[in-house]
Amino acid sequence: MTAEAPVLDVRNISKSFGGIKAVDDVSFTVNRGEILGLIGPNGSGKSTLFNCILGQSRPDKGKVEVNGKPVLGMRPCDLSKRLGVARTFQMLQVFPQMTVLDNIILAGQEHSGTMLGRLMGASDAGLTESADRLIAFFRLGHLRDELAGSLSYGQQKLLDAAMAFMAGPQLVLLDEPAGGVNLTMLEHLKDRLSTYNRENGSTFVVIEHNMEFVMSLCTRILVLANGAIIAEGSPEEVRANPIVIEAYLGS
Ligand code: ADP
Ligand code: MG
Repeated sequence: MTAEAPVLDVRNISKSFGGIKAVDDVSFTVNRGEILGLIGPNGSGKSTLFNCILGQSRPDKGKVEVNGKPVLGMRPCDLSKRLGVARTFQMLQVFPQMTVLDNIILAGQEHSGTMLGRLMGASDAGLTESADRLIAFFRLGHLRDELAGSLSYGQQKLLDAAMAFMAGPQLVLLDEPAGGVNLTMLEHLKDRLSTYNRENGSTFVVIEHNMEFVMSLCTRILVLANGAIIAEGSPEEVRANPIVIEAYLGS
């Protein structure tokens, strides 16, 4: 029996901006069902790495495969449609003048024609039904018809994360989903992400500064410094690694 191919295979990705090597020859794989944490000081290249993986930024070299298929050069909507990949951005992407429900439906329309879209017939009724299921899952029911802009920052971050899930994704890349979020919302977000992962067998890569969040959510952690991976391991291993402590204290 051969081992299952990794969901995500990142090989020798490099990206420079002018003289700055933002990402420097980074390679790693992520297996199905894993929740991989990506940590590192500010400016260590985490967001740039996500951008390179998902086509928002063209890497100078390297390759990326999702389920064995090369993805560099694919448009983000094709990535979600064909390969079930979704992401969130460090900055909020919600539309403040639209309701919670409409924000989620809009995210779903972007993924129309996806596996989920076909299953639901991609009709408005189907999209609304999917959106309502997600709203219930993320416990946003009481805010369903409120304008997104009237929600607290933490609630908007939760909505932002929920929107990525309209793709019925197999792989989700989350860029600082808990950034600036209060403790209660942080616990809620962690609980929802781990429950989704457990129930759907989906795979996550999570960039996050909040160590408690990363350490308790993730099954494995990569540490980036100056664009390169300096450590990798279980939360316990990474927490105790002197190289990691040094990188954080030295930044
Ligand atoms: P992180 O997400 O880990 O905080 P980033 O990936 O945002 O780090 O940034 C890595 C480095 O690349 C930083 O030095 C940043 O200033 C630089 N950088 C990122 N995006 C750009 C860009 N579009 N143009 C120029 N420099 C950039
Ligand atoms: Mg970043």
